[in-house]
Amino acid sequence: MSEQKPSSPTHFIRQIIDQDLQSGKNEGRVHTRFPPEPNGYLHIGHAKSIVLNFGVAEDYRGKCNLRFDDTNPHKENVEFVENIQKDVHWLGFDWEDRLFYASNYFQQLYDFAVELITAGKAYVCDMGAEQMREYRGTLKEPGRESPYRSRSVEENLDLFARMKAGDFADGERVLRARIDMASPNMNMRDPTLYRIRHGVIHHQTGEAWCIYPMYDYTHPISDALEGITHSLCTLEFEDHRPLYDWVLDNISVPCHPQQIEFSRLNLEYTVMSKRKLTQLADEGFVEGWDDPRMPTIAGLRRRGFTPASIRDFCHRIGITKSDNLVEMGVLENCIREDLDAHAPRRMAVLHPLKVVIENYPEADEETLSASNHPKDESMGQREIPFSREIYIDQADFREQANKKYKRLVTGGEVRLRNAYVIKCEEVLKNNQGDIVELRCTYDPDTLGKNPEGRKVRGVIHWVSARHGVKGEVRLYDRLFSQPNPDKVPEGGHFTDNLNPDSLRTLTGCYFESNLSGAAVGDRYQFEREGYFTLDSREAVDGRLVFNRIVTLRDSWAKIENKGG
Ligand code: ATP
Ligand code: MG
Repeated sequence: MSEQKPSSPTHFIRQIIDQDLQSGKNEGRVHTRFPPEPNGYLHIGHAKSIVLNFGVAEDYRGKCNLRFDDTNPHKENVEFVENIQKDVHWLGFDWEDRLFYASNYFQQLYDFAVELITAGKAYVCDMGAEQMREYRGTLKEPGRESPYRSRSVEENLDLFARMKAGDFADGERVLRARIDMASPNMNMRDPTLYRIRHGVIHHQTGEAWCIYPMYDYTHPISDALEGITHSLCTLEFEDHRPLYDWVLDNISVPCHPQQIEFSRLNLEYTVMSKRKLTQLADEGFVEGWDDPRMPTIAGLRRRGFTPASIRDFCHRIGITKSDNLVEMGVLENCIREDLDAHAPRRMAVLHPLKVVIENYPEADEETLSASNHPKDESMGQREIPFSREIYIDQADFREQANKKYKRLVTGGEVRLRNAYVIKCEEVLKNNQGDIVELRCTYDPDTLGKNPEGRKVRGVIHWVSARHGVKGEVRLYDRLFSQPNPDKVPEGGHFTDNLNPDSLRTLTGCYFESNLSGAAVGDRYQFEREGYFTLDSREAVDGRLVFNRIVTLRDSWAKIENKGG
C-alpha cells in the first residue's frame, strides 16, 4: 500500500494515514465515511468533506461509506435524503453498496446503552433541562452531581426500558453517561445519551422508536460498527473527541476508529450554516435550495459549475487545522479555468442595438465560418449567418469617444468578430433622443483580413437580426454585500447583508442561431460577456434562459474594459 502515490495534494491527515499504514494499524485498511444529517441540502463546505473522505479512500484503495446521521427526526426528511445522494454522485463519488443510516443501528445502540447501564456507566436522570443546565456548572466551576446519579442498576434498567416503551413524556427523563461532573471538558460532565421524542414519524423507522440517541453517542458507535478507520470531522468536534473515545472504550465494540479534526470551509460573501440556508430557501429570500446564488451543490449545478471545478477547488484550498475565510475568487477561478479550456465560443448580444448595413443587399445573406475555440482546433468550426440587419451591444457604440474607446463611433470603423469591418455613417434617434438604430456600410474586402493601410480600432460581437434567436440572461452577483455576512451590528440580522442586486435579468437578448439547439448542461463562452448555461428550471418549452456562470477575465476582455 505504501508505495502508492496519492494523486491529490498531501496534508496532515494523509500523513497520519501513511504512518498508520506503515505501523500496520487497522490491518492496512483505510475506511472513511461521509456522514451528513439529512436536514438540508449539501453545500460547498460539505463538498470539502466529501472530496476529502471519498478522495482519501480512492487514493489509498480504501472505502468510503455514505451514512445519514439521522437521529433528529423532526428536522429531517426524504427529500433531503434523496438530494444528498444525487449531489454526492454528481460530484463524482460512489459509495457502492455502502449506504447506511445511523437509524439502522437503533437496536444496537439501545443494547450498548443497556451494557453501559449494567456496568454502572449510565443512569436515567429525572432533572428537567433547566435544572440540568444549572447542575452542569461553567468553564470556571465544576458541575454538581445529579441526585439521580446513584440509582441502582436495576432501577436504571427498568426506567430505560420504560422510556423506550413510551411510559414517559418528552423531557421527563433522559439517559446520561456517568463520567465526571468535575471534568474541565464540559462534554464529559455526564452528557445526555438518549432523549424522549413522541409524535414524530422518523423517515426511516417510522414510529418504532420514541427515544432517540444523541449525536455524540451515535457517531462513534456507527463508525465502529462500519469498521471505519479514520473518522474525519470538523474542528468543532475536537472537544468532543474524549467523549467519542470514552463511548468506544466502555462498550464491547470490535474496533476503535480514530477521530481526526480539520477546519471547516468558510467562503466570503455567503453563509454556510444550514439553519441560515434553510431560512433563505424557506422564507423566499432566494428561489429555493437550488437558486444559482446559493452555495449549495444544487445551486452551483444549476448555475453551471462543473463537478471537476468543485473538486479542483477543494484540492486548492487544502486541509488544515486553521480557521480560514476563502475568497470567492478562488472558486470562480476554478470554474473559469475549466470553462476557458472546454467551453465552445458563441456570440450573444445582451443589450441589442440595431445596425442596418446599407450597402448589403436586402435579399442577400451568407454563411461565415468561425472557430468554436481559439486554442483548441479539435473543437472545430461553426457556421454563422450574416445579413443586412444585425444587432450589436449598446455599450459598443458611442457618438463620440476618445482614442481609448476601441469600439464603434460615428464616422468610425470597427471589426465585427468573425466577419467584416463596418463604418458608422448615421445615428437614428427617437423623439426622446435615444439612439435606436445605426446606419452603417461594410467593406466586402475585409473578411478575415485587415483593410490595408487602415487602422480599425477594435473588434465587437454581433448577431444577425434575421437569424438570431431571442431569449433572456440572468446575471448573478454575490448573494451578500459583505465578505462576512454573519457580522451584523447589535440587533441586526444576517439577511440585512443580502445584496439587493444579486440577480439581474435581461430580456430581449439575441443569441447566434447555433444556440437554438442548446441543451441543459451545455456550457458556452459568450464572447466578451462570460460563461453561460441554460437554466434548468427556466429554460422550458423552448425558452432560452441562460445563467451567467461566471464573468470573463481573459486578455481580450481586459483590453475591452480599459477601452470602456
Ligand atoms: P449541522 O448544523 O446540521 O450539524 P453541518 O454543516 O455540520 O450542519 P452535517 O450534515 O452534520 O452538517 O455535515 C456532514 C459532514 O460535513 C460533517 O462531517 C461536517 O463536519 C462536514 N461539514 C459541514 N460543513 C462543513 C464545512 N463548512 N467545511 C467542511 N466540512 C463541513
Ligand atoms: Mg453536523
